Amino acid sequence: MKIAFLKEIEERLRTEREKLVLEIRRVSPHVAIADAFDADYSTLGDKEDESAGVAAEIGDNLSLENELSSALRDIDSALKAIAAGTYGTCKYCKQLIDEARLNARPTSTSCVMCKKTLTQEL
Ligand SMILES: [Zn+2]
Repeated sequence: MKIAFLKEIEERLRTEREKLVLEIRRVSPHVAIADAFDADYSTLGDKEDESAGVAAEIGDNLSLENELSSALRDIDSALKAIAAGTYGTCKYCKQLIDEARLNARPTSTSCVMCKKTLTQEL
């Protein structure tokens, strides 16, 4: 994987992450989001459970919040992979994922072939 390509992807992921964090803060101001991408998001769920009253209040926002949190996790995984030097490797077959695919969807963790196989199985 080319360094320039990785840098570009990382830049896009960070920009996307900033947008997501703003969106999550807007949707659910009670959720704590760490600034660092290596934050432990397992505490997100706990906080929601503890503040049931707040959760009920924002009921309609919960699915959106989950969606955003999930997107944030995907971005953080990708950023971690870039930092670890494992970015762009298919988690199933361990082959490099096509750059065009990563360009289209920077958080991809599987190659086109594996994705196809999985989709057909579903
Ligand atoms: Zn694969």
